[in-house]
This record gives sequence, C-alpha cells and structure tokens, in this order.
Amino acid sequence: MNPPSPTNETGHRPASAEQEIDWRDYRDHLATAHQDGSRKWVYAKKPCGTWTARRKIFGWLLIAIMFAGPFIKIGGNPLLMINIIERKFSILGQIFWPEDSIIFAVTMLLYFAGIMVFTTVFGRLWCGWACPQTVMMEMVFRPIEYLIEGDATEQRATDKLPFRRRRLVRKLLKHAIFLGLSFIVGNTLLSYVIGWEKLAHIVTDDPRNHLVGLAFMVAFTMLFYGIFARFREQACTFICPYGRFMSALIDENTMVVAYDHKRGEGRAPLKRDQPADQRKATGLGDCVDCHQCVAVCPTGIDIRNGTQMECVNCTACIDACDTVMDKVGRPKGLIRYASLDGIQKGLPLRFTARMKLYSVIICGLVTLLAYLVFTRAEVETIFLRAPGSLFQKMPDGNFNNLYTVKVINKCNHDLPIEFRLENISGKLAVMGSRQLVAPKEKLAEATVMIELAPEQLKGSGTPLVIGVYSNGNLLETIKTVFVGPRPDQIIP
Ligand code: SF4
Ligand code: SF4
Repeated sequence: MNPPSPTNETGHRPASAEQEIDWRDYRDHLATAHQDGSRKWVYAKKPCGTWTARRKIFGWLLIAIMFAGPFIKIGGNPLLMINIIERKFSILGQIFWPEDSIIFAVTMLLYFAGIMVFTTVFGRLWCGWACPQTVMMEMVFRPIEYLIEGDATEQRATDKLPFRRRRLVRKLLKHAIFLGLSFIVGNTLLSYVIGWEKLAHIVTDDPRNHLVGLAFMVAFTMLFYGIFARFREQACTFICPYGRFMSALIDENTMVVAYDHKRGEGRAPLKRDQPADQRKATGLGDCVDCHQCVAVCPTGIDIRNGTQMECVNCTACIDACDTVMDKVGRPKGLIRYASLDGIQKGLPLRFTARMKLYSVIICGLVTLLAYLVFTRAEVETIFLRAPGSLFQKMPDGNFNNLYTVKVINKCNHDLPIEFRLENISGKLAVMGSRQLVAPKEKLAEATVMIELAPEQLKGSGTPLVIGVYSNGNLLETIKTVFVGPRPDQIIP
C-alpha cells in the first residue's frame, strides 16, 4: 500500500501531489493496466449473436469498399485519393488542388460539425461499426487469432506455457499472417495516397529507383502490424482523438451501449431452482453476475460500471448478455442500445424529436458538402498584371496592358481555353500561341495582351470582366483592372 498522500491545511490533497489509486474503483485506473503499470493483455472471448452477425455483414461490406476503393474511378479519377506529396486530392472523382483551399476549409468545418452532431445523437456508433481499426481488428485479425490459437480460455492457457514447439508454431504462423495482412492493409492505404498505378510501378520497378516509396511501404506495414498484433484497444484509448472527444460530446440523451442497472441490480449468481419472482423478492435483479459481458469485451471493461471512455460500442456484450438472459429465462436487453435518461426513466430507445432534428442537420451538411464538391468550377484562372509593366501607347493611339495568366485544369481531359472581354469592347490576344490548351490536371501559363481605345478608359484603372471559355462554354468569369493614363494625360 502506498503511503497516504500529503494534504494541505484545508485537508485537501494538492492537485500536483501524487494520488493514491483505489484499485477497486474502475475510475481510478485503466482496465488494461496491472498495478505495477504493465499492460494487462485482453483475451476477448469470441462473441456471437444477432448484433455480431449484423456487424459482420456491415463490416465485410466496408472492407470490400476499402480494398476496392483505390481501383474505383469516377470520370477517370480515383474515388478517393489524398496525394499529399503532389498536393493533389480526389474526392468522389473530383480533383482538388491546393487552390481549392476554401472548399477544403468549408469541407473540414462541415465534417467536424457533422461529427459533433452525429456523436451527440448516436454516440460511438462509428467506432463500433465503421472505424477501419475496429472493423479490421474484429472482422479479420481477431477471427484469424481465434482460428490459430483458439478462443480466449485456450489463448490464456497457451500463453502461460513455456515456448514449446506447438506454441511457437502457432505464434509464428499467426504473426506471419498478421504481417502479410498488414502489408496488404498498409499498401491499400498507400494507394489511397499515391494511386494504385504508382504503387504497382514501385513494386515492379527496380527497387533502387524507389527507396522512399519502399520505405513508406515498410513503415505502413510495420505500423499496422504493431496496431493489430500488439497495440489493439490501446490505439482507441490513448491515440484516437475521436475517443477523447466523447466525454465532451455525449450526454444523458445520447444513444450508447448501456447496462440497465435498474433492471440488473442487485447482481448475484443464479441459485438453482429459484424462481424469478422469488429472486426479485429478495431484492436481486436480472444480472446473474456471470461476467460474460466482461469476457467478450475487446477493451477489457465491465459495462456494468456505466459508460466508459474505453467502450467502442462494439455490441459484443449485448450479444453475450442476451445469450445469458435466454438461458436463465429472462427477457433480452439487459445490456442494449439505450440512452442513460431512457434507462433511468425505464423508457425504450426512441427516435426522439432531438434525434430527428440532428439527423436532418446531418443530412443537410452532407447535401451541402456534395453540392460544394460537384458544383466546383472545372478550371481556376489567375489573371495578374505582368510584373513591372504599366501600360504602353501603341502607334494607332490605343493602349495595351500585359497580363500573366495561369489556368489550372481540374478535369481529367485537356481543355482548349479562350478568353473574351465581357464588359468592354477591345482586343485580347494570347501571346505566342494560336490556341491555349490547359492539359488535364495540370497548369497552363500564358501571357495575354489586352488593348483598349482611349475613349474606353475609365481613369487610370479600368475594371475588366474576362470570360474563360472552352469549346464555346463559359467556365468562369474573372475580374481584373486595365491600367491607363489619367484622362488629362491622354494626348489626342
Ligand atoms: S452478461 Fe448480463 S447477466 Fe452476465 S454479468 Fe453481464 S450483465 Fe450480468
Ligand atoms: S463494453 Fe460492450 S460495447 Fe463496449 S467495448 Fe466492451 S463489449 Fe464492446
């Protein structure tokens, strides 16, 4: 036992003083830590039941999308590509450039607002059902572990044995498969960054030409191997920022996986031949203290202690408890999706007006996001006056200005570009080129000369509106200024 912590004159422990840990209180320590601070390995029992079956279907659907994602193209562009190296991004087949930073900023704002609203209503639904870490761990890596090393009890017993040949063979086999799968997962992630074509090129070309790419492949593989083979639930508890936000975002009306303490307490093992009403009369609840909900929990917590930050809402404890309730002849749902307020008031989970309102907000945000993505201009034109140039008077008395123009083509096909003066009549010519073409997903640069007659000048700065056309279609209009002499400086 640690010596008592020092107290100040008010009898309270100063915040900075080391506090004594009450190991019986779940709030005082991590469920996955021993008293000496070492890791308590979680041997999660294999779950089975209705929710597990549903999650398997949904999880495998997501896995299929995740692995197919880099190969799916929309309009010739990847479904999703986040190429930080070349600063090129593709979302739903729409190519984004650093110049689209406003859309990116708005997207991020909408994304975070959406997460907050979603979490406030549906809690950690994302963590349990759609987070790639949970899905890959529970649908792929852990089932392989069960297949090779057996269920939790067998794993626990085997790990206590010395490294005999049988154990060694199992461990080597498991880790070899984990490493292979981590290589596939890591490379899939990498192909979301650089595209699968480039990844295939790195793999098939002379390795000496792609040392950086190969280093990333090894790093990603080892990262995922570390997460799935060793780090596991610790990633959710210590690293994932979403998990950390939870306590700030959920409230008593949020949907969570919850233990119905009103129905379950006081908990006690079931006595043989004791009818339910007799058990109830002695002040006991439906929880038979079988610990099955704890045994299946991949984060090692006891949900009966209430909502905890480690809980990823994986539903394994719901299935475990439902199986027990079936066996003891009590209604299912002692652990279920519910709000804390609903449990307190004994009400079933309902799609409340608040949930409806928040869902409408989420749909609105998604629609706005889709609108921003799909209505984005195909080109972005930057029209700047040539540095160091003012205006020139031409032999015919007209004035000209030189501009440097950059046209960013965000489509996956070349665009012939044409400029037209929209608000004034004058001459506009692209220098040195009969036809300006912006290559697909690239930048075209040109010098443009605009010529205006003296009577069209409106002081020293004449506003211009220039239309950017391709094949006769107006893509965008831009505004700039034509610099000329002041009216009193114009000599006829
Ligand atoms: S599985 Fe159900 S009955 Fe068993 S300990 Fe957990 S809550 Fe109680
Ligand atoms: S408490 Fe239940 S829902 Fe939460 S992580 Fe553990 S098993 Fe999953």
